[in-house]
Amino acid sequence: MDTTENAGAMGSGAGDRFAAACRHARRASVLASVEALLGWDEQTMLPPAGGPHRADQAAEMAAVVHRLRTDPAQGERLAWLADSPLATDGSPTEVGTIRLLKADFDKQARVPTRLVEALARATVEAQQAWVEARASSSWSLLLPHLERVFSLKREQAACQRPDLDPYDALLDDYEPGARWREVIQRFGPLRDAVVPLVKACGESRRRPDDSLLTDADFPVDAQKAFVREVASRIGFDFERGRLDTTEHPFCSTLGPDDCRITTRWNGRSLPTALFGVLHEAGHGLYEQGLNREWYGLPPGEATSLGIHESQSRLWENLVGRSTAFWEWCHPLAAAAFPASLRGVPMSRVHEALLVVRPSFIRVEADEVTYNLHVMLRFDLERAVVLGELPVAGLPEAWNDRFERDFGMRPPDDAHGVLQDIHWSAGLVGYFPTYTLGNMFAAQLMAAIERAMPGLDREIAKGRFTDLLAWLRRQVHAHGRLLESDALVAAATGESVSSSWLVSSLRNRYGAAYGL
Ligand SMILES: [Zn+2]
Repeated sequence: MDTTENAGAMGSGAGDRFAAACRHARRASVLASVEALLGWDEQTMLPPAGGPHRADQAAEMAAVVHRLRTDPAQGERLAWLADSPLATDGSPTEVGTIRLLKADFDKQARVPTRLVEALARATVEAQQAWVEARASSSWSLLLPHLERVFSLKREQAACQRPDLDPYDALLDDYEPGARWREVIQRFGPLRDAVVPLVKACGESRRRPDDSLLTDADFPVDAQKAFVREVASRIGFDFERGRLDTTEHPFCSTLGPDDCRITTRWNGRSLPTALFGVLHEAGHGLYEQGLNREWYGLPPGEATSLGIHESQSRLWENLVGRSTAFWEWCHPLAAAAFPASLRGVPMSRVHEALLVVRPSFIRVEADEVTYNLHVMLRFDLERAVVLGELPVAGLPEAWNDRFERDFGMRPPDDAHGVLQDIHWSAGLVGYFPTYTLGNMFAAQLMAAIERAMPGLDREIAKGRFTDLLAWLRRQVHAHGRLLESDALVAAATGESVSSSWLVSSLRNRYGAAYGL
């Protein structure tokens, strides 16, 4: 890392202080990666009885990281740097790093330790209550916990960003720079397009049949070799990463050369692991594409959750469900799973990947209805945070809205308001980043297709290097120095809009359903 591009020339010790501030911030990131390693291990390896001690370890590590991140000496250094000429006249990397380190520090330092601890405790208790509440579909078990979590989150919002309204203060944690009023303007036209599209697909006489992929013989050992080959081929570097098995797939970065992805396996369904791995490997390609010289510092960190999700969705849906991809992948799949796929034409396999089937459960949703699930949660959590809806009113509001959007009413709260862990975990303001990610992905893909007219021919031959190089250059290389809107606009030459996602869904699913 060259932390003294211009800093040395600025005099008055700016170079030394900049280097010291970066060293300090990186130490905190290295410690946070130890915390992440504990989390990865918890989900993949931990014996059941090891849970309580792991919770102690995680709490101690969180406290150490928080102390380091709010160390007053770092605060003084950053305040000094922010007033120095380096903060305005340094290189763009230096200017951005000072601005972001200072903003991160100020935000964290404004939240009192008492509140950090109260939130940690309340969310652990709420998550435990959630497990029981969901299993027995008993909203009343969760209600008092959720009331406490939402109240603490509002307090956190007021502390950390007193300049923003409470929902924006929380949204900003996951999608820096995003504001809910703009998000509403983007989501509105998307909902207006998706609700009738889902209805039209449901009424169409032409229906893709996915049973050949979701109810056939796909031996797990053969799947393991197959998805590893696919992940390698799109560019996931197994020298700098791993693939393991968990109940809930995720991607976790433990160091500049250590990115872990996970998936689950279903011996009767190929898409479960294949699209899970394409999704997580998409996150992994982003992590592996970040500037490792700046590991743990803003130029080497992901822009936002929305941009992260754009990378996973692009590989999962826009590449992985394309005809070109299956021209390459179909012979590979037929050789790996001869009992189920030999002799089945590619067009039938491809069609089976474009099924729209409304479901009560978000994590089982198809690509089209998924966004309706997200917009519902975004509208409800915002109403709660802004004081327009009491937490106690969530189940009824949920069911009413679900019925309006999907044409069916959840039979119980386990299939409704109780299905996701996010709110219990204190992840409020997180949901909209899923659909923002889908929007960014569609807009980026449209720009990629304009820039690379021969892309389909490349993909059909199993060549993904040009596509990945474009993403490396236009998305990964920026780290956090650009916010998501600016990054997408710079990469695509257009301001952010949901119109790309609308036409992408209409074109692909309209064709599959003969609309
Ligand atoms: Zn994801």
